[in-house]
Amino acid sequence: MYQALVIDKNEAGYGASIKTLDEDNLPEGDVTVRVDYSTINYKDGLAITGKSPVVRKFPLVAGIDFAGTVEASSHPAWKAGDKVVLNGWGVGETHSGGLAQRARVRGDWLVALPAGLTTRQAMAIGTAGYTAMLCVMALQGHGLKPESGDILVTGANGGVGSVAVALLSKLGYRVVASTGRTNEAEGLKALGAAEVIDRAELSAPGKPLGKERWAGVVDSVGSHTLANACAGTKYRGAVAACGLAQGMDFPGSVAPFILRGVTLYGIDSVMAPKALREQAWARLAQDLDLAKLDSLVREIPLAGALAAGSEILAGKVRGRLVVNVNA
Ligand code: NDP
Repeated sequence: MYQALVIDKNEAGYGASIKTLDEDNLPEGDVTVRVDYSTINYKDGLAITGKSPVVRKFPLVAGIDFAGTVEASSHPAWKAGDKVVLNGWGVGETHSGGLAQRARVRGDWLVALPAGLTTRQAMAIGTAGYTAMLCVMALQGHGLKPESGDILVTGANGGVGSVAVALLSKLGYRVVASTGRTNEAEGLKALGAAEVIDRAELSAPGKPLGKERWAGVVDSVGSHTLANACAGTKYRGAVAACGLAQGMDFPGSVAPFILRGVTLYGIDSVMAPKALREQAWARLAQDLDLAKLDSLVREIPLAGALAAGSEILAGKVRGRLVVNVNA
């Protein structure tokens, strides 16, 4: 028997609750994992509250990521006792997920816990932090170096944003953090931001082209913020877009792309190929200051995940929420 946060939709409506499940409730898969930690990402908030149709099969255990220990495996890459991490692949959307004490998944979806990280640290990073690393890798792959100029990080107090600030500053970039919570500016500076700006500077409708301010951008916000970020990117700079916290729309113009040669990278963590994931996780173990990571974490028990879903959508979560599924 194991505890899980189950999403159901029936005549009574859409709901999330903590339930006790048994072996028969585990889905298809060749690896069974004893989960240590999961997290609350923005997408988990959408799933738990039902605000967007993230969950497409009912009943389903929520949770798009987890870290834990293999209990049983018929997959050649994994054996009992291996420490593993999972992000995405539709887990927590169409396949029961990580907000549970046990999970069963396809072995091909798992990544080995990188040396130097505990399962708790892996989930302090979570899908948000792994996505931040995919964004950083896209900017570095574009050729941006610390001397190229400032990097803008939007949604800087959120999960993706705060890990991006910590990573980029450790790599030597000058980071400008955009946030609606300017009262948290000191926290962002402690993470490594050189400058903090009010997100209101970027969130309203803007011009097709603005002053060239950013060598690169990590954007988890979308909408006008993304359009303005592109409009303010320097000649041949790059923008990594991964989120939609302000909106799914992109009310911009082609001007930054055709007049300044700006490149817009789309970042998807869910179906990212295994080699890229392994590279991202190895880089996280190497490039993230673990003391700074720890300063971003609030740990909650499994039952606390129910309320945390609404909290993250309301933009009230600072940094990362780690769920101890065994508490
Ligand atoms: P968080 O809620 O932790 O962070 C989002 C941040 O965006 C908030 O903290 C807030 O930052 C800012 N924000 C919220 N609402 C608005 C608004 N209306 N206007 C401008 N800024 C706003 O979420 P995550 O970091 O977990 O995820 C961020 C985004 O990235 C989400 O849209 C998520 O779906 C997406 N994502 C995408 C992935 C992918 O594979 N492409 C993977 C992971 C996440 P502040 O308070 O500093 O202003």
